[in-house]
Amino acid sequence: MDKYRIRPHTKINLNEFDPNDISEFKGDKEDGNKHTAKLNAELEVLQEKLYAEHKRKVLIVLQAMDTGGKDGVIRNVFDGVNPQGVRVASFKVPSALELDHDYLWRIHSLSPGKGEIVIFNRSHYEDVLVVRVHNIVPEDTWKKRFDHINDFERLLSDEGTIVLKFFLHISKDEQKERLQARLDDPEKHWKFSVGDLKERALWDDYMQAYEDVLSKTSTEWAPWYVVPANKKWYRDLVISTVLVTMLKKFDIKYPENKDDLSKVVIE
Ligand code: AMP
Ligand code: MG
Repeated sequence: MDKYRIRPHTKINLNEFDPNDISEFKGDKEDGNKHTAKLNAELEVLQEKLYAEHKRKVLIVLQAMDTGGKDGVIRNVFDGVNPQGVRVASFKVPSALELDHDYLWRIHSLSPGKGEIVIFNRSHYEDVLVVRVHNIVPEDTWKKRFDHINDFERLLSDEGTIVLKFFLHISKDEQKERLQARLDDPEKHWKFSVGDLKERALWDDYMQAYEDVLSKTSTEWAPWYVVPANKKWYRDLVISTVLVTMLKKFDIKYPENKDDLSKVVIE
């Protein structure tokens, strides 16, 4: 899955990334889902150790165009993981209070503590994506943010946070199908927002903004992965694989009990 990791300082052209790619797994959807389930079981154990150890922190950033599958990843990749120690933070249009502070204020306050895995459903990257595309702040303001973001993530990393960032890459055609499916199914109407169509019309501007994000903010300490996301099963498989592989690289251990338990007798 290393194929999907963006090397630092690489100029990215998203046209060169196929959202339908399924080439890193030999097998079909059914095999893929079985494999993801196995990884999920591994993740449950790793998460328990992380929580028990109370030392490291894990931050997972999910970014995508509307319908890109952020909610699906949260549901599928973290299925069955103990909710104690895992938290989702969703970032919406900033509140008046949030706007009174710098854009990293709300982000920092919801970042993971020791032993915690936090999933960011949208993130500080909105401040160089939607904010840029809609000219919410002037260019000379958002341009400086790439450096702030790299430094901020460096701080998190230096202080014990494992940071992984995933861009769920769908095609514009796939988005059309998914939006249509929401429109056709009354039980999905709650997910449909007419505003999403305005964002869709700005697709090319968003792709350019994402290309800059990927080119400028994939670092050794907080790498980006461009995940082919037209096939939901493959998307989940890629993210599960990256996450489990990464966590296994750290020697996360259950802490030793401070008492000598060999002498303990339970009456
Ligand atoms: P959703 O994730 O579908 O609930 O939508 C949340 C909305 O909030 C999206 O349209 C985001 O672009 C928007 N949003 C998130 N962060 C920001 C931000 N910093 N500035 C402006 N809009 C934002
Ligand atoms: Mg939405």
